[in-house]
Amino acid sequence: MPELPEVQTVLNGLSPAMSGSVIEAVMVGNQKLRAAPPPDFISHVKGQRIVNLSRRGKYLVFILENGKAIIHHLGMSGSFRISDTGGSAKLHDHLSYTLNTGKKIIYNDPRRFGMVYLTEGDGLNEHKAFINMGPDPFSDDFTPDYLYEALAKRQGPVKTVLLNQALIAGLGNIYVCEALYLAGIHPEKKAGKVTRKQATSLYKAILQVLESAIKSGGSSLRDHKGVDGTMGYFQHAFNVYGKKGQACGMCECDVSKTGGVKLIRQAGRSTFFCGQKQRI
Ligand SMILES: [Zn+2]
Repeated sequence: MPELPEVQTVLNGLSPAMSGSVIEAVMVGNQKLRAAPPPDFISHVKGQRIVNLSRRGKYLVFILENGKAIIHHLGMSGSFRISDTGGSAKLHDHLSYTLNTGKKIIYNDPRRFGMVYLTEGDGLNEHKAFINMGPDPFSDDFTPDYLYEALAKRQGPVKTVLLNQALIAGLGNIYVCEALYLAGIHPEKKAGKVTRKQATSLYKAILQVLESAIKSGGSSLRDHKGVDGTMGYFQHAFNVYGKKGQACGMCECDVSKTGGVKLIRQAGRSTFFCGQKQRI
């Protein structure tokens, strides 16, 4: 599932191709996405110049010259690719934008959990996608103090609380596991018991894991150029995620004694952690 770094990678890949270009044609497929483009989508989008592209949490936002905003969410399996040649359509292509540069931007989504909205660019904060969304980790509103206060008010385990998009936008299961590992905090620790010092470590760890993943995404963008241009999924080395029973990334612990990285379920999600490095 795409998380913030994957969505940022898609944005970084799309921006050079889309920014300033005019959408000359739009194809909307027949199969329904979780939120399909509205019926009047094409009439508002066709002929418009794309004046700005940005990311908010896990959403992409394209602002058009007429003031409209297209909002994309990649759902579970969505991806974009850029086709220079007009190339052949693929199974699960649900939406495409043909630009005046000849490039075609194609949205593909096998599981169809993706969402596409059209709204007014100046009312984005009130849109249902964003009205209850917490600060983006890279925004000025996200600070060690903010994180401490937000956790202090909550009773649940810190791992589960961090997944709440109303608290922090764009953090998903993988990077929460990784950030808690770097900060040395046990995933089952009560959010309200996280100290100010731990919140500061956690704040730094969140930015560190996201920045490092975005860097991996950047190198994957370069590597994939010329293949089929699909963006947003890349290999990244994790310290604990997916490493059940193995030594964690920076551990000196003896796996034969400790059993290595542990896997538990929290609120229906997999949590990977190191029982040696992460303390309640
Ligand atoms: Zn370890």
